[in-house]
Amino acid sequence: MQEFDAIIVGAGPAGLRAANNLAKAKFKVLCLDKKQEIGVPKRCAEGLGLGWFERLGLKPNPKWAVQEIEGAALYAPSEKKVELRFKSISGYILERRVFEKELAKETSMNGAIIKTKANAFAFKRNSGKVEVKVNESGIVKEYAAPLIIACDGVESLTARKLGVNTAIEIPDYDSGYQYEMANIEIPDEKLIHLYFGTEVAPRGYVWIFPKGKNHANVGVGIGGMNEKTAKSYLDKFIASHPGLSKGSIIEVNCGCVPVGGFLDDMTADNLLIVGDAAHQVNPIHGGGIGIAMEAADIACDTAIKAFKAKDFSHEFLQQYNSHWYEKRGNKLKAILKKRMMFENLKDKDFETLAESVTGDDILKLTEGDLVGAAKVVTKKLIKYPGLVRVMLKYLK
Ligand SMILES: Cc1cc2nc3c(=O)[nH]c(=O)nc-3n(C[C@H](O)[C@H](O)[C@H](O)COP(=O)(O)OP(=O)(O)OC[C@H]3O[C@@H](n4cnc5c(N)ncnc54)[C@H](O)[C@@H]3O)c2cc1C
Repeated sequence: MQEFDAIIVGAGPAGLRAANNLAKAKFKVLCLDKKQEIGVPKRCAEGLGLGWFERLGLKPNPKWAVQEIEGAALYAPSEKKVELRFKSISGYILERRVFEKELAKETSMNGAIIKTKANAFAFKRNSGKVEVKVNESGIVKEYAAPLIIACDGVESLTARKLGVNTAIEIPDYDSGYQYEMANIEIPDEKLIHLYFGTEVAPRGYVWIFPKGKNHANVGVGIGGMNEKTAKSYLDKFIASHPGLSKGSIIEVNCGCVPVGGFLDDMTADNLLIVGDAAHQVNPIHGGGIGIAMEAADIACDTAIKAFKAKDFSHEFLQQYNSHWYEKRGNKLKAILKKRMMFENLKDKDFETLAESVTGDDILKLTEGDLVGAAKVVTKKLIKYPGLVRVMLKYLK
């Protein structure tokens, strides 16, 4: 049985970042992914805000940062638009397949062993280590390490197999369905376009994330329990927009996003849980690439301390929980409260907002600037007591 310092299950953004960090620190790392190709298929609209580049020390590379974004256009059900346009670039749409492959190449160059078509399916603690059985293209191999980092995404089984119940309720998931489309008309390729309304996307939105002038990820996320599928909402939206329906679908993606159900404890003996596997996702817009990579950094800080102390106990590893909540988790919990506000908005409320507020006002609301938000509420929305009641309840 081949031994490693750490075995990382999953080679998405969380797993690759964790493997790269530990490899750079000269630990012997194995990173496994059951997919046959890193980054493929993508289950993602590929948007990443500029702040994440700064926080993660990433330099946008034109190979994978394919479209500069300067803001967002938000559409009410009538398609009345509110534009949030920044003075400079506010983010990028990625070519995630290339982004992850580049990260995998760097991680491998730093000394980590990455294996694709390698499904980790059985885990057993034995004498301070975890033995992992991996199906590698039909052949079962075994590896062992004192530390497992579960970065196996929303479908994560690693944590459960090591005794942590990560199951959450159905309302804490959004279902996403997306087409990558070519030869379409995009209102403005420097903006992401988000369409709201109960008929458009219950508890969610339709998005157009441009990857070029006539090329975009067009998708929908819907939340909670629905009789209709996410695909049916997307198909209906596209059919009613001739600028989209005239184009071609060059890729179909679907997936599930955990938009809540944060875990109080993301650790156990010999185990750290990171990324979608720990539900570390922005509960309003479902973005998780940056959050997963930042969480990998925080988890690796704990891992490196554990290697120094030779202590992989649940008690020791728990410091990862408090560090993550201090840096990111508590902010995400506050955002979850705001999502509840949006869930309670009716179509007429979206129309009122689109009629009354500006892009700047929306920014203040979504960024948690309560003074700014109160200004919006009192000055502009006072004529709409129902809407004000909903907002105040959740903005407190
Ligand atoms: C429709 C949709 C649109 C999205 N759009 C955006 C967006 O625009 N911006 C954004 O920031 N986020 C977006 N997200 C969320 C984002 O994709 C995730 O938050 C992010 O990928 C999380 O990274 P991760 O590494 O934790 O998990 P993943 O990227 O899911 O990686 C997990 C990996 O683990 C592997 N794996 C699972 N089980 C095993 C096993 N037993 N053995 C070996 N390997 C295993 C999987 O094959 C996978 O490669 C979107 C999600 C969806 C579904």
